[in-house]
Amino acid sequence: MNQIITNKRNEQLKSIKNIVVKVGSSTLTYANGLLNLSHIEHLVRQLSDLHNRGYGIILVSSGAIGAGIGKLGLKERPKSIPEKQAAAAVGQGILMHMYEKVFSEYGKTVGQILLTKEDMTDPIRRNNAHNTFTSLLEQRVIPIINENDAVVVDEIKVGDNDTLSALVAKLVQVDLLILMSDIDGLYDCDPRKNKKAKLISFVDEITEEIVSCAGGAGSNLGTGGMATKINAAKISTDSGISMVIVNGDNAEVLRDILDGKEVGTWFNARK
Ligand code: GLU
Repeated sequence: MNQIITNKRNEQLKSIKNIVVKVGSSTLTYANGLLNLSHIEHLVRQLSDLHNRGYGIILVSSGAIGAGIGKLGLKERPKSIPEKQAAAAVGQGILMHMYEKVFSEYGKTVGQILLTKEDMTDPIRRNNAHNTFTSLLEQRVIPIINENDAVVVDEIKVGDNDTLSALVAKLVQVDLLILMSDIDGLYDCDPRKNKKAKLISFVDEITEEIVSCAGGAGSNLGTGGMATKINAAKISTDSGISMVIVNGDNAEVLRDILDGKEVGTWFNARK
């Protein structure tokens, strides 16, 4: 373990109060679109535990379209916009029902916010959204966020929840953004193609070289690959918020990050 890197991470961990955690479809649903209950239970347990430690938690959850695909028994991700929106409308309810149920087992209250791009760009709507988040966090509610997929069309969408979570982190001015993925972090080359690929554990600056490390698209249920994660890292670190990419398969990964273990790839906030 590199001591300088560990110190840099630990320095920032001391002052963390509010955290945005983004979880992707590939962590929440199986390839057939049905919910991965064991991942969801581990996730909710970890988030509730962090909440008990005093952190404010905002969860950005994908999986609405994925869960809708499962429920509707579709063989593949629909191509037409109305079909995708219908899947999102069905799936969003399934997701929230699940979160409400599992979080309440740990005594936690959740609130749903479905955002559109204008909520992040229009000053009045931005301000409204900011006030809602502040009020929820003050009341110790865990906001659960997704893009309002059932009503926005591709042309005017944020489009992926990596970017959405960075915009939310910036809007609320949280202290850390965590992206939970199905990969351990950013590698120096594509680990699916090259067995010698090495995990990059700390990124001080997002250089051209770092951008070129980000491969293509990920699984076929989610929309994000490493490229959208790097985009999220740029938004987040430019807003003074560090971001970490970790593997959601590790059941204790959130605690590991906050306990200062060198997991995943840490993108350091710019001053
Ligand atoms: N908002 C989409 C959903 O809930 C997912 C977007 C993404 O995977 O980044 O299905």
